[in-house]
Amino acid sequence: MKQYMNFIGGEFVATGKTFENRAPVDNRVLGQVHEAGAEEVDAAVRSARAALGGEWGRMTVTRRVELLHAVADEINRRFDEFLAAEMADTGKPHALASHVDIPRGAANFKVFADIVKNVPSESFEMATPDGGQALNYAVRSPLGVIGVVCPWNLPLLLMTWKVGPALACGNTVVVKPSEETPATATLLGEVMNAVGIPPGVYNVVHGFGPGSAGEFLTRHPGVDGITFTGETRTGEAIMAAAAKGVRPVSFELGGKNAGIVFADADFEKAVAGITRSAFENCGQVCLGTERVYVERSIFDRFVAALKAKAEALKPGPSEETGVGIGPLISQEHRQKVLSYYERAVRDGATVVTGGGVPAMKGALAEGHWVQPTIWTGLPESAAVIREEIFGPCCHIAPFDTEEEAIALANATDYGLATTVWTQNLGRAHRVAKQVQVGICWINSWFLRDLRTAFGGAKASGIGREGGVHSLEFYTELRNVCIKL
Ligand code: NAD
Repeated sequence: MKQYMNFIGGEFVATGKTFENRAPVDNRVLGQVHEAGAEEVDAAVRSARAALGGEWGRMTVTRRVELLHAVADEINRRFDEFLAAEMADTGKPHALASHVDIPRGAANFKVFADIVKNVPSESFEMATPDGGQALNYAVRSPLGVIGVVCPWNLPLLLMTWKVGPALACGNTVVVKPSEETPATATLLGEVMNAVGIPPGVYNVVHGFGPGSAGEFLTRHPGVDGITFTGETRTGEAIMAAAAKGVRPVSFELGGKNAGIVFADADFEKAVAGITRSAFENCGQVCLGTERVYVERSIFDRFVAALKAKAEALKPGPSEETGVGIGPLISQEHRQKVLSYYERAVRDGATVVTGGGVPAMKGALAEGHWVQPTIWTGLPESAAVIREEIFGPCCHIAPFDTEEEAIALANATDYGLATTVWTQNLGRAHRVAKQVQVGICWINSWFLRDLRTAFGGAKASGIGREGGVHSLEFYTELRNVCIKL
C-alpha cells in the first residue's frame, strides 16, 4: 500500500499515526497518509528556519532561478507520474489534469523565478536640508519561513502558485496540503531533492486542520507569514492564529461568482463559456459560476442550451475517452452538495436538469458522483443563491437592464470573479468597472496570465498574488537612504 510521508529537512518522515487516502471515482483506498503531529510540524519549521541561514539564504538570485527552472523541468520530465497522482487523488478528467493542473504546476516555478530575476527596484534622489543630496533605493528580503495551507481542488497548481514565488523570493516553506490530496505535494519532495534544492527549503506536513497539522503550523511562532487558499470560514480561523505575533497573511478564499449574459453576446460562445465555468472540475473551482444572470429576451433559449450542454457531460473515470465530468472529492463533500440539491427543491426551485446522482456501474457506483444541476425560479434570498456550494450547479435568473445585472452580481458577501458575455465594448468596460470582484473576465473564463493580479474582494480574500504582486507578500521591502 502506498505511503504518503511528511517531507522534512530533505527526508521522508513516517509517523505512528496514519489515515486513509481514498479515490473519488470509486472510494477505493489509495494509500496511507502519515499525519504530522505538533512535533513533526515543529521539526519542519525548524528545518525551514535553518535552511534560511544556510546555503539557500546565501545563494545568488541567478542560481536560485536556475534551480527553480530545474524544478519545473523535472516536473515536466515526470509529467506522467504527477498526472497519474493528481487524477487518482481528485478523479478529474485526463484532459483537464493534463492541460491545466500539471503544466501550471511546472509553469509556476519558471514564471515567478523569471519575475524575481527581472523586476527592477525603485530609487529616488532627494535634496537634503543642508543643501546636499541623498539617494534612496529599495531592497527586497525574503519574508522568512512561509506556512502554505492548500485546498484539494487543484492541488499541485494551487500549491506551486504559492511555493513558486515564495522560493523565488528566497523564502523557505512548510506546506500543509489538503488531507484529501496528499500525493503531488509529496512527489514534489522527490523533485526538490533530485535537482539539488537544499534540505529544509521545501517541507511538507500532512494532516487535517483543527487539532492537527494545519492548526499546529499556523499557530507556530516560527512561521513568519501564512498564505492560504480555502474556505472563508477556515480563513477566519487562520487569521486568528496569525494575529499572535502580527504575522502577515495572504488569503484566497471562497466565491459565489456571477455570470452575466447580455442579449448581444455571441450566444454559442456564451453557452460554452458558462458551461465550463459552472461545471468544470465538477464545479469545484473557486472561480466557478453558481449564479447566472441572463437578459430576459434570450433567457428561455439560454436555459435550454445550457441544459443540453449539462446533459451531454458524460461522467466517468479520468482516463476514459469522452469523459466530461469527474466525481466530487469526498463522500462528505457529496453529502454537502446533495443537501443543497434538496434545499433548492424545498425552497421551490424548478429543476431544469440534474438534482441527483447519476447511475454508475460496478466499482464506480461507490464513487462520489453527482449530476450537473441547473435551477431557475428561486428568489435571490435562497440558500443556493447565497452560499458557496462548490458543486456542478447553478441557478439562472433573468434581468432587464445593465444596472440590474450589476446590482444582482454584486449582491453577495463574496467578491472573487465575474464572467461577462457581451459584444458591446462600452458595456463590457462599464460592467467591468462596477463589479466588486478581484477578477473580471469578458467573453472568457479562467483565462490566466500568471503576471496578472489574482485575488478576491470582500469575503473572497486578502491581498493579491500573481506577477509582481506576489513579491509584495513574499518579501519585506527595505528602503535604504544614503546621505551622499
Ligand atoms: P478548507 O478551508 O476546508 O481547507 C483548506 C486547507 O485548510 C486544508 O489543507 C485544511 O486541512 C486546512 N484547514 C482547515 N481548517 C484549518 C484550521 N483551522 N487551521 C489551519 N488549517 C486548516 O477548503 P477546501 O475544502 O480544501 O477547499 C475548497 C474551498 O477553497 C472553497 O471555499 C473554494 O472557494 C476555496 N478556494 C479558493 C480559491 C481562490 O483562489 N480564491 C482557490 C481554490 C479554492
